[in-house]
Amino acid sequence: MSSVSANNISGKVVVITGGSSGLGETTARHLASLGASVVLGARRIDKLEAIAADIRTAGGKVAVQATDVTRQDEVKALVNLAQERFGKVDVVINNAGLMAIAPLAETRVDEWDRMIDINVKGLLYGVAAALPIFQEQGSGHFINISSVAGIKVFSPGGTVYSGTKFAVRAIAEGLRHEVGGKIRSTIISPGAVESELKHGSSDAQGAAFVKDFYQQNEIPSESVARAIAYAIEQPADVDINEIVLRPTVQEF
Ligand code: NDP
Repeated sequence: MSSVSANNISGKVVVITGGSSGLGETTARHLASLGASVVLGARRIDKLEAIAADIRTAGGKVAVQATDVTRQDEVKALVNLAQERFGKVDVVINNAGLMAIAPLAETRVDEWDRMIDINVKGLLYGVAAALPIFQEQGSGHFINISSVAGIKVFSPGGTVYSGTKFAVRAIAEGLRHEVGGKIRSTIISPGAVESELKHGSSDAQGAAFVKDFYQQNEIPSESVARAIAYAIEQPADVDINEIVLRPTVQEF
């Protein structure tokens, strides 16, 4: 008998990078409430432990580990922890991300590097860690968090962020095409969602623009958690490849 129950989420083992706040945290709580075992990685271990305590109190199954997704060994260790603790890995949600908004002319090269390292290389390290396990198991599901800024260039200011989110979509689609058959690949592209992401810009003008934009548009992070649950709960022969969701009021 399968260890996955009727809702097709209960019993699954789900790894989430960037599980310490925002969409990752809300998705972890949601999936745990539906019976998934969640394995959360992020740098702020204190936040992860507080979330884990809540999930356990509510009767859920969870493991956490300090993880910097710019370090391949740490992402591998996170995925390995899921396998050691829960015996398998069903889903990896490549979610950790940084959005630093500033005009290109400011040449904030450090922030360009960090966005590329976290948003793109961090995702690739998730793929590198889990793909051999998925191939061995003959099943698995990558969920990759892009953005509406991965569909349309968020310029001026968000050009590099958009570049990373276009890359997420390209890699996730190539992944689907290359390893499909038994392994699923989903792209989730949200618009403005309540989280800590809006605090990621050091440029004063960029930060002010983002603050205003989010105040006018943002919707709760549960909207993304529900979309992720929808992709996971489909039967194994259905691969939800792309979900775009925006606040109804959002124009961009
Ligand atoms: P948050 O800032 O709330 O969450 C980002 C998460 O990523 C945190 O848990 C953070 O944890 C983690 N993180 C950042 N850097 C690293 C790192 N080097 N290693 C490991 N974890 C890291 O923002 P969101 O929840 O909004 O962001 C989640 C994803 O959703 C991102 O990919 C973002 O681009 C995407 N997105 C968000 C939208 C929004 O409007 N909120 C819209 C479209 C896409 P810690 O600091 O503890 O390491």
